[in-house]
Amino acid sequence: MPAPLRSVAVVGGGLAGLAAAGALQQAGVGVTVFDKGRSAGGRVTTRRREALQFDHGAQFFTVRTPAFAAALRPLQDQGVVQRWHGPFRTLERGVVSGDPRPGAERWVGAPGMSALPRAFAAGLTVVVGSRIDGLRRAAAPGGWLLAGIDVATGAALAHGPFDAVVVAIPTAQAHALLRTSGLAGPVADAAAARADALQPCLAALVAFAAPLADGDGAWFVTDDELAWAAHDGGKPGRSGGPVYVLHGAGAWSAQQFAQDLDGNAQALVAAFARCLGRSLPQVAHLEGHRWRYALAAEGELARACVVDADQRLALCGDGLVGGRVEGAWGSGLAAAEGLLAMR
Ligand SMILES: Cc1cc2nc3c(=O)[nH]c(=O)nc-3n(C[C@H](O)[C@H](O)[C@H](O)COP(=O)(O)OP(=O)(O)OC[C@H]3O[C@@H](n4cnc5c(N)ncnc54)[C@H](O)[C@@H]3O)c2cc1C
Repeated sequence: MPAPLRSVAVVGGGLAGLAAAGALQQAGVGVTVFDKGRSAGGRVTTRRREALQFDHGAQFFTVRTPAFAAALRPLQDQGVVQRWHGPFRTLERGVVSGDPRPGAERWVGAPGMSALPRAFAAGLTVVVGSRIDGLRRAAAPGGWLLAGIDVATGAALAHGPFDAVVVAIPTAQAHALLRTSGLAGPVADAAAARADALQPCLAALVAFAAPLADGDGAWFVTDDELAWAAHDGGKPGRSGGPVYVLHGAGAWSAQQFAQDLDGNAQALVAAFARCLGRSLPQVAHLEGHRWRYALAAEGELARACVVDADQRLALCGDGLVGGRVEGAWGSGLAAAEGLLAMR
């Protein structure tokens, strides 16, 4: 008869970690989520600058699975998630054409993408500003001990014991954490195998001094430098102002990653103008952001999650399932279900 599952530590409070934590708590398990960031949400985030705001990570999400649809229904009713109608276009070598996935539904958090993880985190115990650097399994039952630091002060922190651990961080970081912790087994193997799954992305967060003609919605761009441009200010629940988010192409982002942040942001604005084939209004605000672990190639699916029954250790996150919000959430749910099935 397996030992009872009373307490679980979730490392990482992105969509995967929040989904795992929510399902475990709903099943009556005590859960603590640890995240090194200032709030939960990970790459589903909104940056605020006085009156401006930018969704500089995930731009929208799909709702294809019944489980995700059911989880979102109350949030739709509250207006926390809303359908974004674009319009969505492709922009290839200066030529604008239709939506690459006609009829596809795209959803956003409102008033910003961060509203989505905030809603999923409500009612959970989430310890933010807490980086986990080591996992140790003590001999005693329920013996997972976590070591880390308080990001703000640098003070060493110790947590536990917990009956099980869910690792819900990008696969490269999971690989480093498990290796540093000296852990072996299927979870460590999967993290190692998928360590390179997520590619970097450079972003530019730009506000123009005047609206762009025909500047609504978003463009899926085929270009050496630019991959995506969105009228962030035009998403549902936003101000409507001329605020845009630009994302660099994968190879360009990787090549330019270590270069000057401002220079990269300026290059993305110049690429946007070049791709549209026209000059843009004056820039009123511009900043860059580096996403070291951003996106996996779409369709590159592995396993939804990996659960080690013997160690009571699970790995989830988008690096296992193709790098999308819905995939990350489903991966976290699968990890929780895997642990619960062992009770
Ligand atoms: C630029 C960009 C554009 C994107 N566009 C889209 C899109 O349009 N549609 C879409 O569906 N998806 C998009 N994505 C992908 C989507 O954001 C991710 O698939 C999803 O958010 C991943 O969730 P996750 O929980 O697996 O990981 P994350 O969101 O990365 O969450 C991991 C969390 O773990 C924390 N963490 C890491 N290490 C530690 C540690 N040692 N201790 C404690 N905490 C730690 C981090 O702070 C983070 O909060 C985009 C991503 C980026 C970066």
